[in-house]
Amino acid sequence: MIDLTKFCKPHHRYFGEPWSSGEYSYATDGAIAIRIPKIDIKEKPKHLDVDSVIEEAKEKASQDWVVPPPVKIKQSKCYVCDGDGYLYMCITCNGDGCHDCDNVGCLTKTDWISTFGKADINEFKVPCPDCEGTGIELEYSRVTIHGTAFDGKYIKLIDELPNSQISVCSEIALFRFDGGEGALMPIRL
Ligand SMILES: [Zn+2]
Ligand SMILES: [Zn+2]
Repeated sequence: MIDLTKFCKPHHRYFGEPWSSGEYSYATDGAIAIRIPKIDIKEKPKHLDVDSVIEEAKEKASQDWVVPPPVKIKQSKCYVCDGDGYLYMCITCNGDGCHDCDNVGCLTKTDWISTFGKADINEFKVPCPDCEGTGIELEYSRVTIHGTAFDGKYIKLIDELPNSQISVCSEIALFRFDGGEGALMPIRL
């Protein structure tokens, strides 16, 4: 089954979860949008008219279908948590920086210890929101299809769908796969 959550924008008010409406289930993060025949997930009014986006892509795209080109992925240490996977909340303000704190938000382990000393650091631990606790940052290469540039992260997602193909124009890409279809916005230069 297709994991629609991969196409969502985590924690986003409208695009945080997939939804069903009418005959389809949908997901989007604002740059990519996908629809599949309805599965058992919550009915919701649509925050983005994915059907119109896909229909528009169908009208514009070339219908010259290609398989998703390879994407280069570079792994590096997450710069937000310094590769630790966790951040540590400022004791005084709980991370909101509401007092005149220089430590707005969360601190890396090293910064926390240098600010508060060594005691009970684990109590203040929260997974790094940037790398979701992995400590690793993935950098995806840009992918150009018929002269239009796309974020490799999305091309990789499309590639993971069964028998996927992409058709592009300068404004939008249309993709199809066994059991659904979707649209992807290019990188705006
Ligand atoms: Zn503080
Ligand atoms: Zn991180």
